[in-house]
Amino acid sequence: MYVAIDDTDSQDRMCTTYLIYEIISKSKYDVIGDPELVRLNPNIGYKTRGNGALNINLGKGTGKKSIIGKVNGKYAYSYEHILEEPEKNELMDFISSIVEDFYVRDNDKTNPGIVISENRFHKALYEKALQEDIGIDFIEDYLTGRALYRKIGTGRGIIGSSASLAWPGEKYSYELLDYKYPHYGNISHGEKMEISLVPENYRSTFNNIDIKNRYPAIFPKPKTPVIFGIRGVVKSDLVSIYDRIQMDHKIDDQGYVIYRTNQGTDDHIISEPDYLSNMGSYSITGIISGNPYTIKGGHSFVAIKYKNMEMELAAFEPTKEFRNVINSLIPGDIVNAFGSYMNGTIKLEKIAVIKKAKLYRKDPPICPECHVKTKSKGQMDYRCPVCKKRYKNPAFFEIDRDIEEKFYEVPVIARRHVSMPLKLASYFSGQPQISGVS
Ligand code: ATP
Repeated sequence: MYVAIDDTDSQDRMCTTYLIYEIISKSKYDVIGDPELVRLNPNIGYKTRGNGALNINLGKGTGKKSIIGKVNGKYAYSYEHILEEPEKNELMDFISSIVEDFYVRDNDKTNPGIVISENRFHKALYEKALQEDIGIDFIEDYLTGRALYRKIGTGRGIIGSSASLAWPGEKYSYELLDYKYPHYGNISHGEKMEISLVPENYRSTFNNIDIKNRYPAIFPKPKTPVIFGIRGVVKSDLVSIYDRIQMDHKIDDQGYVIYRTNQGTDDHIISEPDYLSNMGSYSITGIISGNPYTIKGGHSFVAIKYKNMEMELAAFEPTKEFRNVINSLIPGDIVNAFGSYMNGTIKLEKIAVIKKAKLYRKDPPICPECHVKTKSKGQMDYRCPVCKKRYKNPAFFEIDRDIEEKFYEVPVIARRHVSMPLKLASYFSGQPQISGVS
């Protein structure tokens, strides 16, 4: 029986994922398969942080056992198959009691939603939840007759919960989240940087650290029950990395849970659409149609022509050195841009320069008889200093450009959870697993 939860935290307290730790810790049921952390539309205004919803499959399990975490000092396992489904109402009572104990009550933006269903939902709902702002009525209609659900406050969380059960999991990665409730003690910035370097040594991990911007990305910004999160595509590497960190740094934690996630998959991206909707995320191939410019606050923009549409590509200040790429584009460049769309602007996550336009410098021509450079005497007037012959046309020399025909991505400090880092591109296009230490 699938249990999904969302919207239990606030900016400075709690993290909905921690409820999964509590469920595993207190449950009389077995866990079936991996708990899931599903990121939804990154452009949703209601999100607290990364717009993530959670689900876990509970019941009596059978088949192969695999590690899904360390809870109360012991490894926690999940089973491959379900043998017996639990009673829905009893399960709802158990989950509700955990949500009631932990959700942030004194914040009207926290509106938990619990969904319990024997079956997964259709992937169209997941796709919609990555692109659009879905109304709660739409979800209630969808759930009626299909699943048991409970709303607390407005119960907005049922939107994310339902969408998480519609994730088909075609592309996936893992994240190990290490916990201490309500939050960890002090870890200095220097030590966070050192700890973030441990996963960075493994080829299968991503978004661990941004050395240039001195950002230890495995540590969330506010203090919540999450101490750190290690993202990767090889589950066993995550356990080894956790053990290594504990050996060297002795973190005072409660334990961890490993989630299967849609992080790093680019599942939110629709390729080459005929029409772009606000809040959707796209990849478009077009031709740069203006010169880049930067506005106050350090946000850079450049115009692009895509199909018969004109829009702008934006690299905002938090994307740091990535802005240099946008500022190096010139009219005529052909690019493939990835990002979310709002009111005529694509907020860039990555960009491929497919074909660079040639850039020329105008210079006085060389006199073909004397082999010396002519001197400019005004518009369309060049004279040879030796034979005094006049020439009308300048010479053009191609200038080397500060940009290459390749992919560029925003630095780790500015990355969205669901965006595919370039490091994973070959992995997701079917190349062999990237296991082991680099
Ligand atoms: P955290 O990642 O720290 O758990 P969060 O960033 O996921 O927090 P929530 O507190 O869960 O943020 O708030 C997100 C809210 O937006 C939830 O109520 C969820 O149901 C809702 N939501 C998610 N996707 C959509 C969507 N596509 N349309 C409308 N509402 C959505």
